[in-house]
Order: sequence, then structure tokens, then C-alpha cells
Amino acid sequence: MPVASIQGLAYNALESQARKVAVDVPAEVLWELYTIVGDGPYVQVKADDRYVHGSDASVEWAEPRVVVYPSSPEEVRAVVGWAARHGLPVTPRGAGTGLSGGAVPSGGVLLVLTRLNRILEIDPLNRLARVEPGVVNLELSEAAEPFGLFYAPDPSSQPACTIGGNLAENSGGPKCLAYGVTSNHTRWLRVVLSDGSEVSLSAAPDPLGYDLVGLFVGSEAPLGWPSRPRSALSRSLRPSGP
Ligand SMILES: Cc1cc2nc3c(=O)[nH]c(=O)nc-3n(C[C@H](O)[C@H](O)[C@H](O)COP(=O)(O)OP(=O)(O)OC[C@H]3O[C@@H](n4cnc5c(N)ncnc54)[C@H](O)[C@@H]3O)c2cc1C
Repeated sequence: MPVASIQGLAYNALESQARKVAVDVPAEVLWELYTIVGDGPYVQVKADDRYVHGSDASVEWAEPRVVVYPSSPEEVRAVVGWAARHGLPVTPRGAGTGLSGGAVPSGGVLLVLTRLNRILEIDPLNRLARVEPGVVNLELSEAAEPFGLFYAPDPSSQPACTIGGNLAENSGGPKCLAYGVTSNHTRWLRVVLSDGSEVSLSAAPDPLGYDLVGLFVGSEAPLGWPSRPRSALSRSLRPSGP
């Protein structure tokens, strides 16, 4: 049998298996979620939707029970608190370009953070940007360019990957040979913890000597979900004008 046919059969088997899985989150529990993020496309429980959210750019696949798209840090906190109350594990997801399977859900709730995509502030004087975690990496550099600045960590997935994903994976690219990776550019984090509470962490030396920002950056997010990172910008090597 040709390879393409075998792949087709395997795909069909996987797909029909996925379609048979019933959502086992009780309706009243789901209803609480709708009251947090609204109805419409922001809570997805249909088999097809759960199926397509089961993979990232790795070879792993696992289906979430619920897919949620919050739009603000407040909604993130409320969704994570809701999941904690009902004993559901939460897996955050950015653009799904990760190669290590970090965004592949472990059942439970897939928390997609791409709607939190606002660049809140660019401070050219101090070369800092305050962003939401769903901001696409390249868009941050584009926004900084008029100030003669750019965001140095440049994974080759930068037209798609998000700052939140970069933080969890401590990502970098060619510019990192000169400027360092994501951890070298993270100055401050607001992190939602697994009970729905939120903490602020600074990369400035902790009085007790702990590097709490370093603990989160590169952790693949088992500890919490950055809701508003503040990142350092680098001076552009390219002239930004004529
Ligand atoms: C073509 C291609 C080229 C690539 N090139 C590079 C490269 O040059 N350098 C490099 O380092 N990587 C590279 N990668 C890997 C990948 O793009 C990076 O790891 C990227 O940082 C993932 O970002 P994402 O938004 O896609 O995250 P996702 O894949 O969605 O998630 C990655 C991890 O981050 C977690 N996560 C996502 N958002 C948040 C959040 N807000 N809070 C907490 N945790 C979160 C997820 O749970 C998961 O563990 C490449 C991938 C592809 C497909």
C-alpha cells in the first residue's frame, strides 16, 4: 500500500477516535466557564475543536476536555481558579509552534492566550516593553522599530510564536549569540499561579537571593502563567531612518 494511503488511514482512525470522545465536564461546571469568558467561540468543547487543539509543532498529540480563549488577565485568573476548584489540569498555549510538546494538553483545560495580544507600553528611554503574553514576537520588534529598538530573542518562528511561549521555552535565535536569550531580556513578570492568584516578580536581585524570574522563564510553565511580562529591548544595529 502506498505510504500516503497508510498515512490517510492512520489519520482517519485517529480522527474518528477523537470524534467519539464525549465531553465529560458537567454542563453546570461548563456554564460557570461561559459566565467568565462569554459564550461564542471562546469556550470550545466540540470534538472537532478539541481534536485540532491537541497538538503543537512536535509529534505529540492529546486531546483537551475544554479549550478556552480568555481575553484579559482577569479572565485568565478566573479560568485558572475555576479549573483549580474543579480539579482540572491547565495547559497554557501560545501559537503552538513549540517543538517539545509543552502546549499539548494533559487532558483538562487548554488555556489559549493569543487574545491577550496587546503591547501595553514601550518605554524607549529605559528600553523596556510591557506586553501581554499573546503578543507575537516579531510584532514587538516592529512596534519598537520607530524608536530605533528591537526585541533581541529571535527564534526563526518569530512571525508566529508568542512572548508567553518564548518565556516558557526560554527561546532564542541568531541574535542571541550577541544579546542573550529570553531570560536575559526579562525584567519583570506578573504570573498567575495554579490557584488563580497572581504574583509580581522582578529580575532585580531578591533580598533573599532567589532568582524567581529565572525560575519561571524556561520552566515550560508547570508553575504559572505569565500574564504581563516586561521585557528589555535592544538598540537596533540597523539604522531605522535614511
Ligand atoms: C519552524 C520553527 C522554527 C523554530 N525556531 C526556533 C528557534 O530558532 N529558536 C527557538 O528557541 N525555538 C524555535 N522554535 C520553537 C518554538 O517556536 C519556540 O519554542 C516558541 O517560543 C514557542 O512559542 P509559542 O507561542 O508557539 O508557544 P507554544 O508552542 O504554544 O507553547 C510552548 C510552551 O510555552 C507554554 N506557554 C505558552 N504560552 C504561555 C504563557 N502565556 N504562559 C506560560 N506558558 C506558556 C506552553 O504551555 C508550552 O509549554 C521553532 C519552531 C518552529 C515550528
